[in-house]
Amino acid sequence: FLKGKTALVTGSTSGIGLAYAKALAAEGANLIINGFGDAQAIETERAALAQASGGDAMYSGHDLTKVDEIEAMMAEAAKAFGGVDILINNAGVQHVAPVEEFPLDKWNLIIALNLNAAFHTTRLAVPHMKQSKWGRIIQTASAHSLVASPFKSAYVTAKHGLAGFTKTVALELATFGVTANCISPGYVWTPLVENQIPDTMKARNMTREQVMNDVLLAGQPTKTFVTVEQVAALALFLCRDEASTITGANLSVDGGWTAQ
Ligand code: NAD
Repeated sequence: FLKGKTALVTGSTSGIGLAYAKALAAEGANLIINGFGDAQAIETERAALAQASGGDAMYSGHDLTKVDEIEAMMAEAAKAFGGVDILINNAGVQHVAPVEEFPLDKWNLIIALNLNAAFHTTRLAVPHMKQSKWGRIIQTASAHSLVASPFKSAYVTAKHGLAGFTKTVALELATFGVTANCISPGYVWTPLVENQIPDTMKARNMTREQVMNDVLLAGQPTKTFVTVEQVAALALFLCRDEASTITGANLSVDGGWTAQ
């Protein structure tokens, strides 16, 4: 149902972003994927997405902490496909440290990537969406856009900001056929989660098993990790006509975490 539409998914060489890209390609969308990683592995994914969609798939490997690189990526997308119809702001990183020790470069990186990049891609994507009277802006926010956890000050700040930004954009675009929503997963099993285990072990003086069960899944009542496919399925639904009146929402996929 997405034939002829173009989707840009930031941070889609891995984890949740790659799952979005696969789900959108399976419905026929053209894809622009973005993110870091092994060049050969990315090319293999890109080719598989192009084949699955029956349209085209392009890789744009820009660093989204830099405004000029975001502008370059959006220009490449416009040149190749005429514009972006579905924008998924998904690239994000985490750092775990007490606030008084939080490294300044990590704070700046997380705000730049998890929050500012979404502003820049959105401002550059919106003119085409308004003109075509159709668009979908989807943010991978987080349960941490609704509630906090200790030692994640930058991440929680960025995700709360992203949730507010999304509501504002939803209001501005409400009469243009463009929706803007947050998807807020709890803990999804991806490299981002796996990679924060060592720092959490250090910050809390815990073993790997304690971090998994007593920290990560402690607040997730289902006691299971969300899967990337479950998150992607919700994004796909938001692209359907049936979802055209869902806008400005922050949709939890968190095993009951934020119900508590
Ligand atoms: P991941 O580490 O698997 O993927 C992150 C992606 O972002 C990768 O493709 C990476 O290359 C890319 N990236 C990193 N720095 C970048 C930069 N400077 N410029 C462009 N791309 C960059 O992580 P994930 O778990 O799939 O996370 C995706 C999103 O989901 C993030 O925004 C994260 O905050 C959010 N999220 C994750 C979870 C979870 O439990 N995994 C829960 C809630 C929200």
